[in-house]
Amino acid sequence: MYMGHYAIAVGARRWMRPLPMAWLLFASIEPDLYDVVGHVVPALSIGPDTHTIPGVLGAAVIVTALGAILFRRLMLAIGTGLLVLSHVGVDYLTSRLPLWRHGPVLGLHLYATPWADFLLEAVTIVAGIALYANCPDLRRPARGGLIAMGLLMLGMQAIWNFGFVSR
Ligand SMILES: [Zn+2]
Repeated sequence: MYMGHYAIAVGARRWMRPLPMAWLLFASIEPDLYDVVGHVVPALSIGPDTHTIPGVLGAAVIVTALGAILFRRLMLAIGTGLLVLSHVGVDYLTSRLPLWRHGPVLGLHLYATPWADFLLEAVTIVAGIALYANCPDLRRPARGGLIAMGLLMLGMQAIWNFGFVSR
């Protein structure tokens, strides 16, 4: 999944308002960040594990612990751990991923059907923004900005699915 990850973080703010948005965004794409780290520092040998079940469970535990230390709110910390899990959960819809290193590969692989992936991510984006828009602490001017943000996310998703670069 691409933009949908960010939409999930944005929507999750509805229940995790005390936490910084940046932390929610970080948690929702943490497995992909691990991929980047794995690429930059191959010696860590985490590349093949980032999107496996053991890999994402480990990452969720680490992020939950970090969240508990940083923000001292256990339920919110568990929420960010769930955001990490959500990443790989929804990636199973859009990709095919090994259950564990060298394990069987599973997933719907909607990326292969760009309009289907776009539809799923568009629904996720709209739902995430709608949840965010209902945060009771949101000021009125911010709501207009949300529409712009939603359109930007849909546009970036469209480029990803139908875009100008051949993948
Ligand atoms: Zn991913």
